[in-house]
Amino acid sequence: MRAIQHSVPASKMALRLLGHCLLSSLAAMILYPVLPIGFLIGWFVLVAASLGLMLQADSRLQAKPGQPLSKTEAARHLRGTVAAAIAWSLPTPLAWYYGSGTEVLTVWAVIAAVITGITITLGTAPLGAIIFSLVVMVPAAAVLFLSGWWGAAAAAMFMLVLACYGFIVRADNFLRGNLAEAGMNERSEVVSLLLREFEENEADWLWQIDTSRRIRSASPRFAFALGCSPEEVEGKPFLQLISGDYWQTGQFPSSLHDLAERLKRRENFSALLVKVTIGGKDRWWELSGKPMLDNHGKDVGFRGVGSDVTAQRESSDKIAYLARYDTLTNLPNRLMLNEALGDAMRYARQWRSRCAFLMIDLDRFKQVNDSLGHQIGDKLLEQVAARLKEVCSDNEVCGRLGGDEFAIVLREAKQGEIVRSVAQRVIRRLSEPYLVDNHTLYVGASVGSAVAPRDGKNVEELMRNADLALYRSKDGGGGEHYTYEPSLHAMAEERRQLEFSLRKALERDELLLHFQPVVDANSETLTGFEALVRWNSKDHGFVSPGKFIPLAEETRLIVPIGTWVLEQACMEAAKWSSGLRVNINVSPEQLLEPDFAATVVRALSRSKLEPQRLELEVTESIFLRDADVARGALEQVMALGCRVALDDFGTGYSSLGYIRKLRFSTIKVDRTFVQGAAQGAVESIAIIRAVVAMADSLDMSTTAEGVETSEEAEMIRELGCKKIQGYYFGRPMPADQAMDVVHRANRMRA
Ligand code: C2E
Ligand code: CA
Ligand code: CA
Repeated sequence: MRAIQHSVPASKMALRLLGHCLLSSLAAMILYPVLPIGFLIGWFVLVAASLGLMLQADSRLQAKPGQPLSKTEAARHLRGTVAAAIAWSLPTPLAWYYGSGTEVLTVWAVIAAVITGITITLGTAPLGAIIFSLVVMVPAAAVLFLSGWWGAAAAAMFMLVLACYGFIVRADNFLRGNLAEAGMNERSEVVSLLLREFEENEADWLWQIDTSRRIRSASPRFAFALGCSPEEVEGKPFLQLISGDYWQTGQFPSSLHDLAERLKRRENFSALLVKVTIGGKDRWWELSGKPMLDNHGKDVGFRGVGSDVTAQRESSDKIAYLARYDTLTNLPNRLMLNEALGDAMRYARQWRSRCAFLMIDLDRFKQVNDSLGHQIGDKLLEQVAARLKEVCSDNEVCGRLGGDEFAIVLREAKQGEIVRSVAQRVIRRLSEPYLVDNHTLYVGASVGSAVAPRDGKNVEELMRNADLALYRSKDGGGGEHYTYEPSLHAMAEERRQLEFSLRKALERDELLLHFQPVVDANSETLTGFEALVRWNSKDHGFVSPGKFIPLAEETRLIVPIGTWVLEQACMEAAKWSSGLRVNINVSPEQLLEPDFAATVVRALSRSKLEPQRLELEVTESIFLRDADVARGALEQVMALGCRVALDDFGTGYSSLGYIRKLRFSTIKVDRTFVQGAAQGAVESIAIIRAVVAMADSLDMSTTAEGVETSEEAEMIRELGCKKIQGYYFGRPMPADQAMDVVHRANRMRA
């Protein structure tokens, strides 16, 4: 502030010098006739010295404009001013003392001129100006007073007061004005900095239009966004340039219409997403804008910033699509199915109707995927999706939940019939053979359904219940449709508990083995036993293997259980007479364990059982998953001298081709054929005949399972089976009873 105050005196240095010289010469001329010459020269020296002091201070100020002024520098400047004031206070008293009234008055006039000059050159530094005026004027007024000119004296004092007041006001205004200006400068600097930064940010530009919505002062970047040069767009209607063909039709896209409305209503807007057409291509702009007003508050147009967000917008569209559709099948995914089901449930609640959710799972898909590879699996899924779409009407939304699980949302399912008929249609269509890369594939479908609002209050609950129904369907072997029932919850819970207990069964010693005799079909003499595992659970009582074996396979608990069975059964068999064999069931999961053969070797060496007396039973299902691994494991144990039987023949794929794949020693004909043949079913008889013929030709033995009566035994004998197993010759029994049977057989032979 000090520097600002002293900036004017410094800049007016030359003017001041000139003023002092002229006026001091004038005063000297007036006083020359009356004043002794020595005094006059002395006075001149005084004026010159004071001016020298002042000039010194001023030139320092001039040397560093705009910089702060220290207190000592200001004091030095003040000293110069006081010196000049003392010099100028002298002429009036001198005129009064040596001259007449004329000299006093004329000198006074010069003094008044000096004061006037001071207001111009020193007025902005009020302290100096006031001291100067006081020092000069008070003696002058006193002289006038003493000369008897009361009025002039009063006028002089009045002039002094006015001058001082003027200095203060002027200095104040000057300071304020300067400070305001400094503030303005600073702000405009900040604004221009911001603007520069803004312009450097590639994506954004400024736009401006006038009251008739024509483009004004287009920046090069804005023009570029419009696909033209700045000259081309200047003065063109803004909306026309960005609306392409819509301009002719007048039918703007809604976002453009929105923009036009806001411009018309003169409303502020920010980050407005507008679909524009530039050079025939659709693009997305994000615009912000504000009406512009002139100094009088009159509307002069609009101004704002904008950026092209097409790329972001397109990628977010893509992401939105990916988030809601399955990439492989292009069907709606889980998320979208969730939404569709939510909508359907709301609608059903509102109109007191019903909707349904169908969950579909492919049967045997895993086998296809495992044996033929993921590429074929994927192609199969695409075909499944296409068929599903074909089966669905407008009332239904179908989608993929993931893996080989699909689902259908039935918007309107007032009659229960509809759900059943859609489910049947789906099962029928999906079960037809597929042709993928020259492979004919057979997969089936299982369906579980739940109906809202009856079976679930919200989406999660309904889906969970449909899933339970689906699980029930899979549990029953697949290919069927089950609807949800509350009892399924109990089943699922029981299963969960069963699994929990099964995990502890081995350490709690709850498992034991039973042995079922196998006899020669002709002589009816004992040839061996099949070991069958039993679980007597502390929590659940006796649990049938038909129930817990599948559970153990699913949870891979079958591996430790199977190892235990193998060791126990071999130990037991080693006690029997040397001709008797033991048959042990082996699940596919066990064969996939890398150390399966080692497990067999360990069981044999611990029990000292000859390998020839061990026959492992496997089912056709081993050929469906990682067939090579399973076959490799079996070939290893066959190399040890063990035998391998094909169990449950006829129930699974029933392909005679499997029999050729491995050198089985025995084919076990499933109980269903034995029972069928006993009831006179021609088909069953034909199958048994074919199997026996084929086994004979390949030098394999055959065992008929499930023979319960002497008639059945007779019939089997006639059909040519080599061995028989069934309740007729003995139920599965504990080890000690099996031992009794062995002893009895030995006695009979003896
Ligand atoms: P499977 O290997 O086919 O075993 C024969 C099943 O038929 C046994 O049922 C047996 O009790 C039953 N059976 C035998 N003769 C007759 C008959 O004349 N009439 C009727 N109605 N049934 C008869 P179980 O013991 O309930 O075993 C069921 C299945 O559990 C077995 O079928 C086998 O696949 C599996 N399993 C049993 N023990 C083991 C084991 O230690 N390991 C593995 N992996 N599976 C086992
Ligand atoms: Ca078996
Ligand atoms: Ca069997």
